[in-house]
Amino acid sequence: MPKQTSKESTCEICNTIFHVKYTSYKRRTCSKPCKNEIAREITKNYYLSEENRQKASVRGKETMWRPEVRLKYLKGMEKRDFKKENHPSWGTTRSLESRDRMSAAQQKYKEQ
Ligand SMILES: [Zn+2]
Repeated sequence: MPKQTSKESTCEICNTIFHVKYTSYKRRTCSKPCKNEIAREITKNYYLSEENRQKASVRGKETMWRPEVRLKYLKGMEKRDFKKENHPSWGTTRSLESRDRMSAAQQKYKEQ
């Protein structure tokens, strides 16, 4: 019997059956778009927890205190133009849940 060098896997996103070249590969998805989708889900699930959101917030703030990071950030901000169609969320409609979260965050910011 020939040595098995490839295996079939089912994509966790679109359920397509795809070939994995080596049995040791632990691919969970069939393609780049599906891989991005699974990454999006992992991130979404991570930030569902208040504890993880707090952790990320603290990490971000701590990082911004580092002078070299701060400098790069300010340099980037000079070039940034988020007006109209340059805005990352231009043309997208936010869900009601997302809008509620954003206004709650703004409220919290104002109270500080
Ligand atoms: Zn897929």
